[in-house]
Amino acid sequence: MKPLNSVKIAFPSKSINEGFARSVVACFAAQADPTLDQLADIKTAVSEAVTNCIVHGYKDTIGMITVTASFYEGNELRVIVADRGCGIEDVQQAMQPLFTTGGEERAGLGFAVMESFMDQIRVSSKPGKGTRVTLIKKLGPR
Ligand code: ATP
Ligand code: MG
Repeated sequence: MKPLNSVKIAFPSKSINEGFARSVVACFAAQADPTLDQLADIKTAVSEAVTNCIVHGYKDTIGMITVTASFYEGNELRVIVADRGCGIEDVQQAMQPLFTTGGEERAGLGFAVMESFMDQIRVSSKPGKGTRVTLIKKLGPR
């Protein structure tokens, strides 16, 4: 299926860019007349996905992150957040609430937050190759 409209940004995995990425997606999503609650949900989910690339995917190194936001028929927003970092050995396990490899600093709730704030999320990852998270939400008044 081809998107009706899309935008793609690429940036290094510095935490200062997390807010930028979140705002770019929110600005792009605004064309679908989302509710303020929907916008807040999208920003939170994008923020969690980008933070994961920074703190887990690239850990103590800097690498490129891409964020692609697209609209499909029916006001469906899809946001793909991708890194070429360390990847995830066991995606199912990583997505369990409270699972973390981040030690005491992390709650292990990022994927749970993304799942509750979006309609659907998809995660594909290969160890040593990177991770790709797709966040899907239908926008507009309900
Ligand atoms: P929190 O998000 O609550 O601060 P967290 O980041 O550990 O904690 P999740 O966001 O749910 O929790 O991620 C769970 C685990 O999945 C992480 O601890 C990490 O092991 C793995 N993970 C998530 N995203 C990536 C990524 N982009 N690259 C590599 N590993 C990842
Ligand atoms: Mg996280």
